[in-house]
Amino acid sequence: MRIFENRNMVFVTKHSKESVVSPIMEKETGCNVIVESRFDTDKLGTFSRECDRTESQLNTARIKINEGMKLQGIDIGIASEGSFGSHPFVPIPWNTEIVLLFDKKENLEIYGIYEGPQTNYNHMLTSSYEDVLEFAKKIGFPEHYLILRPDNEYSSEIIKEIHNYEKLFDAFKRCAELSKTGVVFIETDMRAYANPTRMRNIGRATQDLVSKLLSLCPECGAPGFIVKDIVRGLPCEDCNHPSKMPLKYKSDCYKCGHSEENLYPKGQFASPMYCDICNP
Ligand SMILES: [Zn+2]
Ligand SMILES: [Zn+2]
Repeated sequence: MRIFENRNMVFVTKHSKESVVSPIMEKETGCNVIVESRFDTDKLGTFSRECDRTESQLNTARIKINEGMKLQGIDIGIASEGSFGSHPFVPIPWNTEIVLLFDKKENLEIYGIYEGPQTNYNHMLTSSYEDVLEFAKKIGFPEHYLILRPDNEYSSEIIKEIHNYEKLFDAFKRCAELSKTGVVFIETDMRAYANPTRMRNIGRATQDLVSKLLSLCPECGAPGFIVKDIVRGLPCEDCNHPSKMPLKYKSDCYKCGHSEENLYPKGQFASPMYCDICNP
């Protein structure tokens, strides 16, 4: 018997994410994923800036799940939410995908995550169709769709669903005609169905969610027995002063309260490079 055997689980999405998420969830947990596409998730924010996301990534996923549970009258749901930007320290594109699960009956919230540089997230301003073709090639067009606008990234004229060279040429011509400055803004489409690379990352986040769920409490067998707290202070190998490296991980069960500590998860001593005394 799997952890959610035969339970109906609502999944709010309007960009076909179910094609990657549902098979993993159903196979690994035994649930039946019910896709709910009536809620307009674009109201919570779009990657192409027609509507800015005002909530955090996690809160946006929570809102989607709540709306889905209301629409379907179901007490468990999942939602996926992505973000794109630069790596915090290095100027490379960076994708963070979360897949959140909320089981209202059990009051269990848990998420899976993918974070990494595997994305084609990119944009360009140009007046040359040669440049557009080069950009298209680099980002994996036509499997990965493109979005075009005249002038700049905020123009209200926007052309989407560009997934073949005929459409690309027409869109470029139209935007060049409309442009006041003579340039066209071109960008990668980050919606899941328009971006197979992102879709794969959503799959990875779903796998992470499943592996966390399938970590069961050794006492009562409840799902989601994962590290909840990291206690820092691993002693420095040179001066023995407590460093910022983890000393122990703490896991606890949401259901029976059983907890476990895992001492020295990264070794018995910290390198002096993590020590405030040796490497201030
Ligand atoms: Zn337990
Ligand atoms: Zn030290």
